[in-house]
Amino acid sequence: MLSMERIIEIMAEQGLRITDQRKTLAKLFAEAPGYLSAKDVYDYMGQKYKGLSFDTVYRNLRVMQELGVLEQIVFEEGVKFKLHCSEDHHHHHMICLQCEKTYPITFCPMQLTESPDDFQVVKHKFEVFGYCKDCREEAAQEPLQAITGKRAAR
Ligand SMILES: [Zn+2]
Ligand SMILES: [Zn+2]
Ligand SMILES: [Zn+2]
Repeated sequence: MLSMERIIEIMAEQGLRITDQRKTLAKLFAEAPGYLSAKDVYDYMGQKYKGLSFDTVYRNLRVMQELGVLEQIVFEEGVKFKLHCSEDHHHHHMICLQCEKTYPITFCPMQLTESPDDFQVVKHKFEVFGYCKDCREEAAQEPLQAITGKRAAR
């Protein structure tokens, strides 16, 4: 996982101005255990920087994603961001729906996908959702309610 210092270094190397806001974003993601939606980030940043616009927050998230500092995953409830996996190469994710623990998958199903000759592939997504061992054990003790109850309370 990237440290806050490394995130700032990557941003600086790419010629990004290291503002106080970007430092705070680096710290937030370096310390966040799971995924954050743009709204989560905005709520957090808004407490610290009065008058900050959602657009500014969103633009920074996009930039950090383009630099490979963050990765975005599309959940049913929307797009969320997390720190980039330690996996450098192209990879996909297996994600626990309960605790959001993420396992990188290095296998890419695209190589098995035949696309028509006249179709130019630009990008693709492949994400697998389920429950990790810990969450399955927890759910077995408290059938179903453990999962649905906690999900709703978040
Ligand atoms: Zn990843
Ligand atoms: Zn889990
Ligand atoms: Zn792939």
